[in-house]
Amino acid sequence: MPELPEVETVRRGLAERVVGRRVTNVDVGRERTVRRTSAREVIDGLTDATFLDARRRGKYLLLPLDTGDTVMVHLRMTGQLLLAPLGAVRPPHTHVAMTLTEQTGGSQEELWFVDPRTFGEVVVFDPDHVAVELPELARLGVDPLADVLTVPALRGLLAGRRSRMKPLLLDQHVIAGIGNIYADEILHAARIHPERVASTLSMLNVARLHDAMHRILEDSVRAGGSTLGDNQYVDLMGSGGSYQHDHRVYGRAGLRCLTCGRGVVHRIVSAGRSTHFCSWCQRRP
Ligand SMILES: [Zn+2]
Repeated sequence: MPELPEVETVRRGLAERVVGRRVTNVDVGRERTVRRTSAREVIDGLTDATFLDARRRGKYLLLPLDTGDTVMVHLRMTGQLLLAPLGAVRPPHTHVAMTLTEQTGGSQEELWFVDPRTFGEVVVFDPDHVAVELPELARLGVDPLADVLTVPALRGLLAGRRSRMKPLLLDQHVIAGIGNIYADEILHAARIHPERVASTLSMLNVARLHDAMHRILEDSVRAGGSTLGDNQYVDLMGSGGSYQHDHRVYGRAGLRCLTCGRGVVHRIVSAGRSTHFCSWCQRRP
């Protein structure tokens, strides 16, 4: 599933290619994608609206409109936003298609929301009523790149928590945007065992975690995110990312650790999620 770096890559594409353009027509094919409200509300909310900005919080894409409403897109497991020339054949599972006015010097295009497994969502909401209309967005934790997350603030977030580190990093109400791939990579770079209890981290551990979190997420954004073997994640123009070539532990179970050369990458299930760590770099304290 797309995580912070992948969603940020899509956001940058939207900022470059979609912001400033007006929607002239909207087709909604699958009601499940717009289940939060209705096809009618999404069509009425988007038609003749202009995209003013492209923002992101955690894994949520937020596109303010000139009507005062905001469009929220969540890709969940298999969602994709794709830009294509007007008239191009829509791929299977295109659940929302918006026709956009031409970009300066360009031609008309369509913005597609494609989602085979239909866990993703497109919602038009009033940002003044976010707590009612999108309560989980209102309760989202700190975003390591969109917000300022300092070492003392991170220490404050972890203090007193009895949760283990892997599920804690996946908890979107604490830190927003990290999923299974980046949680494993960040804990490995910080040399913290995934089942370490958060409240037992030393100040040095927290500083290393802070550094690893920012470095890995920023490096992955620069690489356009991670596209795994299923080619499920692609950017707005349909291109994959390349950060999967920099994964040190994720998907490498049984192989020797690329960092220390001594440990072997183990795969365990932690809080129901497949988890990778190095037996040498991430020894239990
Ligand atoms: Zn290692």
